[in-house]
Parts: sequence; structure tokens; C-alpha cells
Amino acid sequence: MTIVLKKKQLTFLQRIYVIEILKGMMITLRHLVKNMIFQSKIMTVQWPEQRKLIPAVHRSEHRLMLREDNSIRCTACMLCQTVCPAHCIHIEAAEGETPEKEKYPEKFTIDLLRCVYCGYCVEACPCDAIRMDTGKLVEAYYKREDFIKDINYLKKNHPAGSSPISEGIY
Ligand code: SF4
Ligand code: SF4
Repeated sequence: MTIVLKKKQLTFLQRIYVIEILKGMMITLRHLVKNMIFQSKIMTVQWPEQRKLIPAVHRSEHRLMLREDNSIRCTACMLCQTVCPAHCIHIEAAEGETPEKEKYPEKFTIDLLRCVYCGYCVEACPCDAIRMDTGKLVEAYYKREDFIKDINYLKKNHPAGSSPISEGIY
């Protein structure tokens, strides 16, 4: 069955658009004046001067946790790299010097352009070595390479006031 939609007939004044354009401009003007008078009620956020509070459970940029001796907590087990659905984690393992630290990551990069912020890497990590609680949203860069964060960046990417040390047996 076909449905035939009736086209609405426009009046002469509607067809010349002048009145409609003026009506549209009046709406814009009304909002402009209202926003200028009641600035505290404006719905938009004046970013970057104003920033919205990010909830504690929000998954933001990654950071790599440290042990008490400031060595990297990651044991290069590759679980996060394996579970990552976007294949954006790349780890190169090296042999540790003591039996307690059998392996450690020589290279650890995350491509933030590919990351979908699912948090699987954090969930998969058996030793709390990676977290996504920095509260940092991805910055805008001009070059693709700038979105690839290396181990040095991730080791230092701790939000102010938080400890980079994670307690535990690993
Ligand atoms: S948040 Fe998800 S997509 Fe991003 S690195 Fe972790 S596992 Fe991969
Ligand atoms: S961050 Fe965690 S899951 Fe990923 S390689 Fe290191 S120890 Fe394993």
C-alpha cells in the first residue's frame, strides 16, 4: 500500500520568505538578549575557561602505576594487549634482573586515536598496573603520532593529588 503525503500549500507571504526570515531572526535575538541578561542560566559551558566536573567513575586517559620502589608495576603479562578490542596497546617485554621481577615492559604504547575507552585493559590487569582515572580527556593534536602515548608519558600521567604507587603483592 502506498501512502501519498499531501504537500502543504504555502501562502504568498510564506513563499517570499521575508516574514519567515524575520521570525527566525527574532527568535535568535530573543535568545541572545535572554542569555546576556541571565548569564548564569546559560546551558553551554565556556570551555576551556570553564570545565565540567568529571565523575570519579569516568574512564579517561590511562596511567601506569608504580611500586613503592618507583619501578613500573606492569609485569608485561600482555593480558591488556590481548583483551583490547581496538588493538591499540603495544607492549615489548624485557627480562627482569631479579626473580621477583621476571619481566617488565621495555615499551608500552597506547594509541589514543584507536582506543574506544572500554576499560577492558584495566579490568584484565591482574596487578592494578594500569588505571583510567586521570580525569584527563584526550587533547586535540595536529599530528597522528602525538596521540600515541609511550611508557614515559603513561608513567607520569598521574592526576594532581593522587598517588602513583599502587599497593599489593606484585
Ligand atoms: S580502554 Fe579499551 S580500547 Fe582503550 S586501550 Fe583499554 S582495552 Fe583498549
Ligand atoms: S598493564 Fe597489567 S595486564 Fe597489561 S601487561 Fe601490564 S600487568 Fe599485564
